[in-house]
Amino acid sequence: MSETVKYVLSEGRIPEAWYNIAADLPEPLPPVLHPGTGQPVGPDDLTPLFPMALIGQEVSSERWIGIPGPVRDVYRQWRPSPLHRARRLETALDTPARIYYKYEGVSPPGSHKPNTAVAQAFYNKEEGVARLTTETGAGQWGSALAFAGALFGLEVKVFMVRVSYEQKPYRKALMQAYGANCVPSPSTETEAGRTILARDPNTTGSLGIAISEAVEVAAQNKDTKYSLGSVLNHVLLHQTVVGLEALEQLEMAGDYPDILIGCTGGGSNFAGLVTPFLGRQLRGEGERVRAIASEPTACPSLTRGLYAYDFGDTGHLTPLVKMHTLGSAFVPPGFHAGGLRYHGMAPLVSHLQELRLIESRAYHQNECFEAGVAFARAEGIVPAPEANHAIKGAIDEAVRCREEGTARTILFNLSGHGHFDMAAYVEYFAGTLEDRYYDEAALAEALAALPQV
Ligand SMILES: *Cc1c(COP(=O)(O)O)cnc(C)c1O
Repeated sequence: MSETVKYVLSEGRIPEAWYNIAADLPEPLPPVLHPGTGQPVGPDDLTPLFPMALIGQEVSSERWIGIPGPVRDVYRQWRPSPLHRARRLETALDTPARIYYKYEGVSPPGSHKPNTAVAQAFYNKEEGVARLTTETGAGQWGSALAFAGALFGLEVKVFMVRVSYEQKPYRKALMQAYGANCVPSPSTETEAGRTILARDPNTTGSLGIAISEAVEVAAQNKDTKYSLGSVLNHVLLHQTVVGLEALEQLEMAGDYPDILIGCTGGGSNFAGLVTPFLGRQLRGEGERVRAIASEPTACPSLTRGLYAYDFGDTGHLTPLVKMHTLGSAFVPPGFHAGGLRYHGMAPLVSHLQELRLIESRAYHQNECFEAGVAFARAEGIVPAPEANHAIKGAIDEAVRCREEGTARTILFNLSGHGHFDMAAYVEYFAGTLEDRYYDEAALAEALAALPQV
């Protein structure tokens, strides 16, 4: 008998509600603070930037939040996404581990990001917004929001981190194909961008800088709101469709994970995979799981950052959030997993680490590409450079199973495909891909500049 390699749910099994782990946390998240007053922010502070529905989700402690019909209708195009059993990879690694991956590269823009982009576009449209601004690193988020904007009839303006804008021209063209406007960041279109260019005309840019630009434009225009592709509670919430579907698919497989792994930039695909499982554990309904966040050594917020209040952006336009941070002034070196070049971490993921509900690891880019290529040769999917960090984590755990002779179940999130990232693979195969190290002095300086709270 042939063995199952893919667990597929019918369209009707798309979750009807997102799961909000805030309802099950043993300790609540620290409040978000207004930088001027040091007091918790209220909805009024956020209304210039976000629609009320998303502000409500941001602070909600309801366990289940219904997914609107029109959002589920769009999800139908590619959801439920498949859960694969990586049998060929298991054989190649000669491991007794059972390795599963949830494949989010099947969405039209090629990553998990449309799970929240579609929801955000829907709520903004419902509240009469005409235009969305946003930042993008590698271009995955920008193209996801451009896609969602096209479906719901919203204009989309994207500030793309300059190093990625230059490395990934096809992502920009994809955004244009969806009708969005994309400019390199820092740009001369905003005060925040002009200030940084005056200081450092050759800057690579960073997500922190691009966020400042997008926030500035939204705050100054009444018909425009801002949209963030990671970090915020409502974004992590929308990504829980990943873990909820995986739970059901593993049930079909008659299995349950011992180890969950996701790569972490801002933390959304990781949280989307792991929080439904952690919720079961916290409610005493499911086995204890080990959840491992896998991040780049060149931008190691969870493994090297301080857990402290900091700004979400470089220009200090955002509220203060408590998170693992490298300092909002920290500009990570330009490595290829552009989606992981963020100085901070989702406050929720940071909180989970503080509560010891998750662990974190940091990897260099060459070892991640090595893992990604091994995966491609076994499973046939070329992963996004970001996702290679999750694969590296999963392979390490599978090798440990071999060494210990233990058959654990490993589930990781394959957050996207790498078809727009082949320039990075070209460098890897040419042997010119360098492991990047951040500047210790610059990190110390950025951390010393953390706001006093
Ligand atoms: C953006 C992105 C990431 C990192 O963002 P998270 O919010 O940490 O998930 C990871 N993988 C892919 C493919 C991405 O596009």
